[in-house]
Order: sequence, then C-alpha cells, then structure tokens
Amino acid sequence: MKLIRWSEPGREKPGILLTDGARIDASGFGSDYDEAFLGNDGLTALRRWLDANAHSAPRIPPSARLGPPIARPSKMVCIGLNFRDHAAESKMEPPKEPVIFFKATTALVGPNDPLVIPRKATKVDWEVELAVVVGKKASYVSPEEALEFVAGFVLHNDYSERSFQLERGGQWVKGKSADTFAPLGPFLATRDELPDFNALRMWLKVNGELRQNSSTANLIFDVPTLVSYISQFMTLLPGDVISTGTPAGVGMGMSPPQYLKPGDVVELGIDGLGESRQQVLASR
Ligand code: ZN
Repeated sequence: MKLIRWSEPGREKPGILLTDGARIDASGFGSDYDEAFLGNDGLTALRRWLDANAHSAPRIPPSARLGPPIARPSKMVCIGLNFRDHAAESKMEPPKEPVIFFKATTALVGPNDPLVIPRKATKVDWEVELAVVVGKKASYVSPEEALEFVAGFVLHNDYSERSFQLERGGQWVKGKSADTFAPLGPFLATRDELPDFNALRMWLKVNGELRQNSSTANLIFDVPTLVSYISQFMTLLPGDVISTGTPAGVGMGMSPPQYLKPGDVVELGIDGLGESRQQVLASR
C-alpha cells in the first residue's frame, strides 16, 4: 500500500494512493498514521478496510495539499556520510561505524510545501535520501531480523544549513532542524511495495539542473545494518524515521559551493517512492 496524508498543515487526514493513481480518503478507517496505528498492526487493518471500501470511499480532491505521510514521530534519526562520494566531497573520511544524528521532528512538512530559509542562514543545502519508517518497537535487534521492524520507505529531503551545522560548534542537529527542513513523501510505501530497496535510483534537481544522481546500491551501511545499529543505542518506536544518508552532489561539494536562495525550486525523487518539489522562500 501507499499511504498518504492530506489537508491543511496540522489537520491532515489519512488517505491511500492506489496503483491506478486514484487517491482514496481513508478518514472512514478511523485512525491517523501514527505510533499507535503502526504499533497495533494498523497496516493489516487498513488493508482489510481498503478491500471493503476502495470503491465506495470518497476520492481526495486533486488540489488537496499532501502532508507528511506519517503523523509526527517520536524521533527522526539521520545517518551522516553514508555514501563514499559524499564523504569525499565533504572532505571527511568514510566512517568505520554509522554516524548518527537527530533532526527535530518539528522540521517535518509535506512533500511539496515550501522550504523557508531560517533566520541568519547563509548556506542552505539539499540532500535527497531514502528514509525508513519503523513499524515495530525495536531494541537490540540483529541485522538478520531488522527488516521485520520496518513498516516501509519514504522519500526525504534532509535540508541542511551548513553554517549552523559545521561552523557554530556542537552537534549537527543545529543545522538540520529548522522548520520545513524535512519534507517527507509524497507517500509511505509499505515494505511489500519495494522488495528491492537496495537498488533504487535517487536524484535531485535545482532549478531543473541535475545535482544528485545515484542509487541506494551505493549506501555504505545498508538498511538492515542501520536499523540494527541504531537499536543498540536507543529504542526505536513505530513511526520513527531513519534517514539513510545522501550521495554526492550537494551544494557544499560544488566548486564554488552553491546554496539555495529565495525563488529556487528543488525537485527530487527515488524510484518507487515518487517525487517531491519545494519552492524556496525567504526567511520570516
Ligand atoms: Zn542527510
């Protein structure tokens, strides 16, 4: 299944994207896509609801805004330097163990919501990433069993303010957490929709020019390794997001570096996970 959430920010309703492109309003199902939904095997119940209601449920208006396809999770864990070419352009060594950092969950927005430049920002950058949504509470899981704890996958743009991230001391979280810095979606694809998530093309364009062009095949640490690894240090809850890292082609790696400015348009996509588009707005 492909899960979507729609309507105005903060008032999103559940929906389902069908294979023929039709979008079903799943408000009648009775639950948002949140921690309780995933933790209580809501995906099975939703599939049953869909089988019974696909024809009669209302369609979502074509003009409806999409929100992030999951309700605000307990945490977003991001992986740094998980592609060799991106580590090289960042002038850092490929890590021996996964680099993990947090992104504030308040950064979450819909896939096509605008990116708002934070106050005092000068180096806002893009990062197309494959994100994993946790499906079951995971603590000390092995790589072999890790996929059982994954609900599905979603497209993510891990926006980053490089001066906050790298020039202001402390941890990367400062440069990763501004409002609108985590456009997620268009949809959450359940694991069965993407059996071969280890070879998905991923790309990103700025103002129509291709900047990132890679594949999830190039991840240094793969999805099962990451889920297992993070669960050695913290409990992952249903709905938590793990963003698995970005390939080369970010603005920081260009010569000279190039960062986003108001009016720019960023488009990105991953095979099987759709596309998203953000227009850049000035700070407010
Ligand atoms: Zn990232």
